[in-house]
Amino acid sequence: MNYYSTRNRALRQTAAESIKMGLSRDGGLLTPCEIPQIDGAFLQSLTNARYQERAARVMGLYLTDYTAEELLQFAENAYGPDKYDTEAVAPVRKVDENTHCLELWHGPTSAFKDMALQMLPQLLSAALRKTGEEKTVCILVATSGDTGKAAMEGFADVPQTKIMVFYPKDGVSQIQEAQMVTQEGANVGVCAVVGNFDDAQAGVKRIFSDEKMRSTLADRGYFLSSANSINWGRILPQVVYYISAYCDLLRDGAIKLGDKVNFCVPTGNFGDILAAYYAKHMGLPVGKLICASNRNDVLTDFLRTGVYDRNRPFHTTMSPSMDILVSSNLERLLFDLSGENDAEVRDYMARLAKDGKYEVSDAIKAALKEQYWGGFCDESGTAATIAEYYRNKGYLIDTHTAVAANVMEQYRQATGDETVTVFVSTASPYKFCNHVLTAIGETPESDGVALIDQLQRVSGVTAPRRLAALTGKTRRFDLWTEKAGMDNVVLEFLK
Ligand SMILES: *Cc1c(COP(=O)(O)O)cnc(C)c1O
Repeated sequence: MNYYSTRNRALRQTAAESIKMGLSRDGGLLTPCEIPQIDGAFLQSLTNARYQERAARVMGLYLTDYTAEELLQFAENAYGPDKYDTEAVAPVRKVDENTHCLELWHGPTSAFKDMALQMLPQLLSAALRKTGEEKTVCILVATSGDTGKAAMEGFADVPQTKIMVFYPKDGVSQIQEAQMVTQEGANVGVCAVVGNFDDAQAGVKRIFSDEKMRSTLADRGYFLSSANSINWGRILPQVVYYISAYCDLLRDGAIKLGDKVNFCVPTGNFGDILAAYYAKHMGLPVGKLICASNRNDVLTDFLRTGVYDRNRPFHTTMSPSMDILVSSNLERLLFDLSGENDAEVRDYMARLAKDGKYEVSDAIKAALKEQYWGGFCDESGTAATIAEYYRNKGYLIDTHTAVAANVMEQYRQATGDETVTVFVSTASPYKFCNHVLTAIGETPESDGVALIDQLQRVSGVTAPRRLAALTGKTRRFDLWTEKAGMDNVVLEFLK
């Protein structure tokens, strides 16, 4: 199967080339030229399969230049018992007859980013082989917390790769920082940037577009690439768990083959919910895609009005991975809903760059209305939902998951829809101990990693092994820089 760009539908390249590049040269997102179709027999054949087999089968439909054996091996490596703390990998937990929760945080860094970032490095390193690339790829990441750690964990000691992560010095949680500065692996680097996330991100973008830097690095045998969710190699592994969740519900008798299921997804960059959209288009029986936002409600407005307007205040919330005003992956959805009209997409993106705003066509508005429902939840709503789930359902959920649970309820109230609904749980509550403790009525006794113990004592829920083990780990990285010094950090790292 070939891939083209959301800004150039005439382009044709392989999956391996697309994964290696990350982003198309024209600035567009690389996207499969067709959506492979699945049917009831396909779903039935996966119903009793292990997660790893499901992943290999689904990804094989898109990655026709990878062999089935390769993909199965990658899936075994990515989702094996040394990485995931449950054999199910992405278990579906029943909340009540009509409500289920898809837990995506059982991997090494306790956030859903692991589902893709345990797979991407293997897809990328095979892509280097398949395209005859001799240089070493250096992944540059600017992170607001979860992506950096998950990317390092995935790329640690992968041959022909190096990874450098920049995080805002005072912009990540103490637990997130502890996770990053204790990262193992000979090919990883971590550096704090004085400033906020935008400063770190702007610095990385500057390095990417610096021709002189590129040629200096090329002389040293390196090229740069990206591990954020604009890379198709991050979206595809996420398609798998929606299909897997459906198979679990089928296996457990919660639904019959052909029954529709709604998915409610806590959304930031629109990668996760886009993967659900692809699953639906492949033929998975999906009803509504419910897009849950926190106080940064740009997507709620967009789905309700068809106007995307980023000109609004940026709110820092207790669900920081969803604090985002420009959701990059929306571009792939617009491309699809416009009938692969690259000129139309270029026009929207030009307006976004110029005015911070665009309005989609009536055809796209109608399609959005039919397939999506958007809602948002503020800080007190998030805390109240954590408390409600903990007290009434005996279920300890994190701040991002709580946004999804809250918006799912709003959707039901607004529409009366009783379709079986799966909401997506994207992080372990132990990544956000202070907010979770406060929400369930406790007073945090200390800060950082020390709170893990308090939350365990209070809730009786065991913390993920690796988060609990952070307490005894030695700090490996102490590097920090002013924004202007990021180039030198990279040059020093790739000496
Ligand atoms: C990244 C992230 C999200 C948002 O996912 P997108 O694919 O960016 O929409 C939600 N929750 C958590 C915990 C995350 O780390």
